[in-house]
Amino acid sequence: CISIFWFRQDLRLTDNPGLLEASRLGKVLPIYILDDLAPSSFKSGSASKIYLHYSLERLNETLRDHLNIYIGTPEKIILQLIQQYNVEHLFWNHCYEPWTVLCDEAIEKILRDLKINYTIFNGSYLWVPKDINKEDGGYYKVFSAYKKKVCSLEPRSPLPKPEHLILMRDHENNTRLADLKLTSNVSWRDKIEKYWDFGEESAMNKLNNFLRNGLPGYKKERDYPGRKNTSHLSVNLHFGEISPYQIWHSVKAIDPLKVCSADKEHFLSEVIWREFSCYLLTHFKKLPFDNFQTKFNAFPWKDNTRFLEAWRSGTTGYPVVDAGMRQLWQTGYMHNRVRMIVASFLVKNLMIHWHHGRDWFWECLVDGDLANNSASWQWVAGCGADAAPYFRIFNPILQGEKFDPDGEYTKKFVPELEHLPNTYVFSPWKAPEAVLKDAGITLGQSYPLPIVDMEHSRNTALESYRRLPSME
Ligand code: FAD
Repeated sequence: CISIFWFRQDLRLTDNPGLLEASRLGKVLPIYILDDLAPSSFKSGSASKIYLHYSLERLNETLRDHLNIYIGTPEKIILQLIQQYNVEHLFWNHCYEPWTVLCDEAIEKILRDLKINYTIFNGSYLWVPKDINKEDGGYYKVFSAYKKKVCSLEPRSPLPKPEHLILMRDHENNTRLADLKLTSNVSWRDKIEKYWDFGEESAMNKLNNFLRNGLPGYKKERDYPGRKNTSHLSVNLHFGEISPYQIWHSVKAIDPLKVCSADKEHFLSEVIWREFSCYLLTHFKKLPFDNFQTKFNAFPWKDNTRFLEAWRSGTTGYPVVDAGMRQLWQTGYMHNRVRMIVASFLVKNLMIHWHHGRDWFWECLVDGDLANNSASWQWVAGCGADAAPYFRIFNPILQGEKFDPDGEYTKKFVPELEHLPNTYVFSPWKAPEAVLKDAGITLGQSYPLPIVDMEHSRNTALESYRRLPSME
């Protein structure tokens, strides 16, 4: 019997339910399709494309060069392969982007009409979004209630790697990984190659390293961007180089004497935020586009290209904001606390629409993820389902002083400030002339003056919010 296993956001062999099942039936034709289904604003961003290239390269190595690669519409390609190889069964794991869901439905219809067997598994999330409902049949909009519900349903254990994988090559297909042209942006390619390791094995090593060195103290230390207490696993989870089941059970299995339960629970809670984002996207398909709270449709966003450019390039004059934006540009990643600070600065102090932030993150993040990115931007902007209250406007000076007390993170990415005493690192304009001179800084030249006044911009944002019609 010949089956197709369709790799998508599950680029791994271990704990891959669809692949395991396919391997048990006989020969497997493993395929990857670069499709063009996403609307233009959600075609993969530059950083993410490069990561995907190397992740596929690693996957192909683990499949002993048997990964069959295609470009085009999945329906057409799959249909052709079925006919060409007399395929009897198709396996894949669910994805949740709205256009992917539509594509799956179209393929399912074709397979049903042709009477071809197919099985779709849930491999990328701990709980199937559609299975989690409130008593009244509606869906959860508040994280704490959602979390309480899902935590009563223990996720299954991770599955083994297929023992016998009899792989097939489509000899009539000449498409190579290079033909996908995922690495054509050379400057991004160099950066991503420098900062990241790719593939299933490296994801597992990263997890194990994090469990030993990052998880102890996670609850408190995760907020400090200069410390090494976050896992950096978001990209591996996004591409499915590791599954949330592997993470969940590895954390649960740690001896409570080695890592306290508060740290473990807090980390798992973050993993549940990922589930919640996907859950919201499933139930509110317009999450990437439309304000969840419709009263924000009347918000007087400002169109200011100069401010937007300063934000993107990390030249706002607010050091922790600039450090975050430069970290993103240099590495394709930004620490979560700093993501919140820079996002708040864009949507509240600059009053620029969260769509612009969403798009820039999408272009630059290796872990750019439709559900997480959309839900998080809406959360910071205050218009999301269970969002931060609007009046919670992060003050980048206080945030910097609190979470980067030695200025280590900020100075790393904004080296112009390297010689400035810590007292002034987050507000260099307050430093006396002589101190600036000693540190080799000329404000407005070697480092910018703040583009907006903190107090004034905060008050303007709050006033705009107060004027919104109350609808919800
Ligand atoms: P850890 O602290 O080690 O957390 C473990 C895992 O939990 C992460 O890998 C991630 O999968 C999940 N997680 C952690 N925090 C969140 C969160 N707030 N929401 C959802 N899942 C979370 N995350 C993405 O994966 N892709 C995005 O495109 C994305 N865009 C964001 C945009 C904004 C404006 C903000 C504020 C946050 C965004 N996040 C996004 C969430 C979060 O910042 C990252 O998941 C996290 O920083 C990744 O680092 P880590 O793996 O070291 O996290």
